Amino acid sequence: EAKRAGGHRVRLFDADAAVAAQRMSALDADLARALREESLEVHYQPVWDLVEDRATGVEALVRWRHETQGWISPEVFVPLAERSGAVVALGSLVLRRACSDLVGWGPVAAGARLSVNASPVELRRPEYAAGVLAVLADHGLASSRLVVEVTEGLPLGGPEVEQLQLLRRAGVRVVVDDFGVSHSDLARLKSLPVDGLKIDRSLVSGLSTSPDAHPLDSGLVEAILVLARAGRLSVVAEGLETADERAVLVSLGCRHAQGWLTGRPVPAFEVPAVLSRGGAA
Ligand code: C2E
Ligand code: MG
Ligand code: MG
Ligand code: MG
Repeated sequence: EAKRAGGHRVRLFDADAAVAAQRMSALDADLARALREESLEVHYQPVWDLVEDRATGVEALVRWRHETQGWISPEVFVPLAERSGAVVALGSLVLRRACSDLVGWGPVAAGARLSVNASPVELRRPEYAAGVLAVLADHGLASSRLVVEVTEGLPLGGPEVEQLQLLRRAGVRVVVDDFGVSHSDLARLKSLPVDGLKIDRSLVSGLSTSPDAHPLDSGLVEAILVLARAGRLSVVAEGLETADERAVLVSLGCRHAQGWLTGRPVPAFEVPAVLSRGGAA
């Protein structure tokens, strides 16, 4: 039935609660095993400079191919891992794998930044920042090569903020992911120690140069750019899919974007080609 609905994604809410709960705990166990066996994969999506038309870095995105269910979306299993605590091992695996891939890409990646996603469950741990810095040191990577993405909308309190500050003091960049979809964003920006924002896909998707476009579509992105400039924050627009969206972003002065138009997530071995592909899009 899930297959007929068109995908490899596990449908979560179509069964009754008991069946769903059972399936979840089975998935929990399978994920724990995948983590022990380190069989999770990491794919990489380029962050694109729209002016120079080249990649400036890549974002590491975890991938899980379940033995019987095929590819399962991180939007399904990351929340599960947050609930079980497995996200700590997951985050650590992704960071180590990504750092070693970055080293393996060699000179073509010398100027590239690596972005990783951090769950608040990881950030809450007092040893988080020290652990990240140790992994960087193990791989001989300068901390300025790393960007840590924290998803806004989730309550970040004192302990998390402290870890972010430790990272930033060491030279790691911190950015707010999926910015613009939570009502708490704007006020909170002042108290969050961050270097940049990633504008949520929902605000980028559908941007249009057509005269019929709703003025607020580009207006919202424009407002975020004004805000970012005032706060000296970097900006990356997420979910860029069409040439029309690209044209609007460029006309608004949004220089960096990430999305299918400029590059889908790819396995590690394809990254050197992506990084040297400037000017193709
Ligand atoms: P995110 O960090 O906001 O990542 C961007 C998501 O948008 C990715 O989905 C990416 O594949 C997708 N995407 C990129 N460009 C486009 C586009 O043009 N159109 C559309 N429709 N989608 C696009 P993905 O890989 O499924 O990851 C979903 C979320 O799962 C991520 O959102 C992030 O919050 C979380 N996630 C992924 N990997 C990790 C990880 O290693 N650790 C943690 N804690 N969370 C992760
Ligand atoms: Mg992200
Ligand atoms: Mg995002
Ligand atoms: Mg997200």
